[in-house]
Amino acid sequence: MSNHPAAVTVNGRSYRWPSAPTVVICLDGSEPGYIETAIDKGLAPNLARLMRDGANLSALCVIPSFTNPNNLSIITGRPPAVHGIAGNYFLDPASGEEVMMNDARFLRADTIMKGFADAGARVAVVTAKDKLRALLAKGLDFATGRAIAFSAEKADQASRAANGLDEALAFVGQPLPAVYSAALSEFVFAAGVKLIASFRPDVMYLSTTDYVQHKAAPGSPAADAFYAMVDRYVGALDAAGATVVLTADHGMNDKHLPDGSPDVLYLQDALDELIEPGAARVILPITDPYVAHHGALGSFATIYLPAEADRAEIVAALAATPGVEAAMDREEACARFELPPDRVGDVVVLSGRHKVLGTTAARHDLSGLTEPLRSHGGLWEQRVPMIVNRRVAGPVPEPLRNFDAFDVALNRIVQ
Ligand code: ZN
Ligand code: ZN
Repeated sequence: MSNHPAAVTVNGRSYRWPSAPTVVICLDGSEPGYIETAIDKGLAPNLARLMRDGANLSALCVIPSFTNPNNLSIITGRPPAVHGIAGNYFLDPASGEEVMMNDARFLRADTIMKGFADAGARVAVVTAKDKLRALLAKGLDFATGRAIAFSAEKADQASRAANGLDEALAFVGQPLPAVYSAALSEFVFAAGVKLIASFRPDVMYLSTTDYVQHKAAPGSPAADAFYAMVDRYVGALDAAGATVVLTADHGMNDKHLPDGSPDVLYLQDALDELIEPGAARVILPITDPYVAHHGALGSFATIYLPAEADRAEIVAALAATPGVEAAMDREEACARFELPPDRVGDVVVLSGRHKVLGTTAARHDLSGLTEPLRSHGGLWEQRVPMIVNRRVAGPVPEPLRNFDAFDVALNRIVQ
């Protein structure tokens, strides 16, 4: 494209037209320490080089430190107060029903991908899980031939009409990966490398899954193997001339007792002692159809209370409960974490570094937890890496947010 605009404005932020194919990678659950450990063992020479010759930054993710709020923040450049996606799951005030928030109708902001595509750019989005693809691809017009968006999970079903390409498995050259596998993320990277070579997107977004990070701590064999794989593909993207920014949606911490069982504070039980049993409704926005990762146990919960309940008293009681990092009312939570008030309960609770929040024991299927629980959602999982394969000009905003990734990639690198 020669007659493109110099910059594109999306959700009030301006992004320069890329001078090289620009790739933002969201490496799901990439707690600081995974990459450093792999580098120390000589398993990630490309990442080591990028961190030395490009930029090795640190950023804060969005709270709740869950996958969807952060992926949507990165791809819109704005926090959940603007784009509306505050979790995987919420209580729809219109219906009173608890519903998945992975339908694109819940997204209230345009994506940076759509902004560039509408301005004539070639754009590509590849996700591990299909649940994210619909949100991240919202508004893309595949009839233009300039947009591609598909998931590894459903790559066998990709079509030109719905995803911008047919025969995605043959295109990527890998078999359909299992949904619970490291291969699901590898497929995303393999697709990205193929797309850079053939489709030549101006901007591309790659988003993996945290299957490995939920099971394997930094330095463990599975984690080291995963990061060695990531390193090969990041090296290939770099070698292809792309501008690459690698960040994460959130970190990850051990959330279990010494005996390996999950360290859970069951909030419905706690509330049933404070007010009339069953009167409070505990919502865990980590809840999703893929429970094997985490048994729906994370470090963030929101609670709907009956109108007559004394919110201040309940907040104080929860804040004093062992294992609770912070408890606050809706107004404070929405101001502090930039959340949409209509998708947050009366009270927000965050648990500590090694603690998770549940409803009642009977409501959690922990049969898929084959390893001691690792999870996320709270303040202890807010620190994420941001690695750039180019030098970055001048001071970056403090604190840098993971949803500044496109700003860094398009506006702040040394050309
Ligand atoms: Zn995630
Ligand atoms: Zn996760």
